[in-house]
Amino acid sequence: MFRNRVVNKTGRQSSGILSFVALLLLTVAGCSQANTNQATNSVKSPKIQEATSLQTGKTKIVTTFLPMYIFTKAVTGDAADVEILVPPGTEVHEYQATPNNVKAIATANVLVKNGLGLEEFLENTVKNAQNPKLAQIDASINIKPLNEISPVEKTAKEEHEHAEGNPHVWLDPVLAKQQVINIRDGLIVADPANKATYEANTANYIKQLESLNNEFEQTLKKTPNCTFVTFHDAYPYLAQRYKLKQLAVVEIPEDQLSPTDVKNAVNAVKKYKLKALFSEPGVENKLLTSLSKDLNLTLRPLDSLETGKTDPQYYFQAMKANLQTLETACK
Ligand SMILES: [Zn+2]
Repeated sequence: MFRNRVVNKTGRQSSGILSFVALLLLTVAGCSQANTNQATNSVKSPKIQEATSLQTGKTKIVTTFLPMYIFTKAVTGDAADVEILVPPGTEVHEYQATPNNVKAIATANVLVKNGLGLEEFLENTVKNAQNPKLAQIDASINIKPLNEISPVEKTAKEEHEHAEGNPHVWLDPVLAKQQVINIRDGLIVADPANKATYEANTANYIKQLESLNNEFEQTLKKTPNCTFVTFHDAYPYLAQRYKLKQLAVVEIPEDQLSPTDVKNAVNAVKKYKLKALFSEPGVENKLLTSLSKDLNLTLRPLDSLETGKTDPQYYFQAMKANLQTLETACK
């Protein structure tokens, strides 16, 4: 669950607050760094309806990771066969494709991905699958990505271009709705026979997303500018939508953590009048634990939904739990 690609290179220069700030900025890039291919990829091959799943006669859709599976399943219901490439519990940011992934794509009609550079494993996997009939749906098409997320000043040391921005758009219910609509529209092109079903299912799910957005708005408007620190750069869209502030991302390899690192981190973070410190469900992070003690803040779990249950309703369960966590932490 740790995303340390950048920190591993730079995390050892512990010469005070500035380097920690640099560290924050560099780790902020970690999740969103991306290969620059195919940013504008939408539905490619509309004439595939004859190539349906041999077993069931249904359209076969492969999705990349949990939110894409959940949103696609919400649109299709039982009208299509939906599979997931990155099993829940496996890290999507660093995912390495398996031969079974290649097979799944080779025999699929449609591929649904989050895009924005999240699925770095896809390019080669799709190439290897050699499936000319494959239609690809980029769920983030027409969503404007966020690049800068932290109010911390820029440092000279920027090692990565993140051309496609931060990929965690599914954690904003309004953008999630846009993703569901994108998936619906792509599926209608790829599988027009089920148009009515896809439209009806989507309409239901969108109602729920709108009510979730409403709930977030009503609850979080009571705590404007609630400032928080996390160790996974997953919440800039959520923060922007509901006027919270995701200050920065803390990522330091646990085994190399020195007391000076902790002290520097605490001093840097103390300047910002934090309300909350967020970890992830089931993840221990020594730095965040130390920070939470020294800052006298409770460390709470926030779910990025990169792993969890495959039921489309799980999105609402997890997001409502997140809302409760935010409400309590931001008071
Ligand atoms: Zn992530």
